[in-house]
Amino acid sequence: MSPPSLIDAHSDLSGAAPVALSYELFPPRSPEAAETLWTTIREIETTDPDYVSVTYGASGSNRDTAVDLINRLLTETTLRPLAHLTCVGNTPQELAEIIGGLLDHGVRGILALRGDLPKDGSQPAPGSLRYAQDLIELIRRVEQRRSALLCAGKVAVGVAAYPTRHPESPSIEHDVEVLLAKQRSGADFAITQVFFHTEEYSDLLTRARRAGVTIPIIPGVMPLTSLRRLKRLGELAGVDPAPQLMDRLAAADSDAERRRIGVAATVDLANAALDAGAPGIHLYTFNEHGHALDVLDRLALPRPVRPASRRLTLSRSQELASEELAGQELASQGLAS
Ligand code: FAD
Repeated sequence: MSPPSLIDAHSDLSGAAPVALSYELFPPRSPEAAETLWTTIREIETTDPDYVSVTYGASGSNRDTAVDLINRLLTETTLRPLAHLTCVGNTPQELAEIIGGLLDHGVRGILALRGDLPKDGSQPAPGSLRYAQDLIELIRRVEQRRSALLCAGKVAVGVAAYPTRHPESPSIEHDVEVLLAKQRSGADFAITQVFFHTEEYSDLLTRARRAGVTIPIIPGVMPLTSLRRLKRLGELAGVDPAPQLMDRLAAADSDAERRRIGVAATVDLANAALDAGAPGIHLYTFNEHGHALDVLDRLALPRPVRPASRRLTLSRSQELASEELAGQELASQGLAS
């Protein structure tokens, strides 16, 4: 018989788990969009999230802007990027190169996705990776070749999960089997597709746990403030937005009123997910911080207190660097004291 575990005897050793906070951003499509995005980045940086995810076009068309944004997040901010990557639109060789490049630049989190299939019905090129599961295995292979470089921590691989049936899937049971297969292939966590009804996330959690899925399943929460966006996202993801909310947003007579209604509905949705056991909240920002931060303000998430903020450390080191530069300039002019 093995000796009793010290941890079992002290069940309160680890205390209440803090709730993870993350945001989704997408690479900008124009210089004006980049300006808005960088205002958003600076605003969300003040909330000290655990990571920010950067989307990737399924056709691979925005690869350069995605990689550029990730590199800038790594070098110019205190944020930790989670790079989305898709099978669709890239050969396995290209994907291996992109993964290697991301790891070499310091990325330690990748969201492995299949990507949406082209709308024209064209099929992926022969030899392409077929499912997200194949991409997870490729990431793990590339990671293994760099294991000596990664002594300070392995790569966290995330995957998509679906509170409502994936549009191509035969059933929600099949979706959970796929999630379990992704876990077996090496996924560390999952982020959900948008959902609009409180019970959809808790049902997914129950079904997934019963099937043996043990990885964290983080609810993806979008601010429910824009009627247009709700309709579009609903169509894209094959999810029906709540008709009552749609009616209330449509009847609202000002943007401020729509914002109030939408933020309140989002907070209810996120709180229901937290009550069901959500280990974190992933906020879809659409590159705008206002509504996402309104939601965050009203959530009161139990977050770790980080005494020496990395942001302050970075801004202090930037301050010191500019003081040093100014000193060198004065010295070169013979004006230093
Ligand atoms: P998979 O898990 O591979 O599933 C795809 C389909 O194949 C499903 O119907 C599944 O049931 C089926 N399937 C999977 N494995 C098997 C198997 N072994 N046998 C039989 N059937 C199987 N798209 C982008 O293009 N860029 C992004 O940045 C992006 N970010 C996203 C972020 C999140 C959090 C989420 C939830 C989705 C995101 N998407 C993104 C959308 C995603 O690419 C689509 O939903 C896509 O249609 C499926 O991707 P997946 O990774 O779930 O694929």
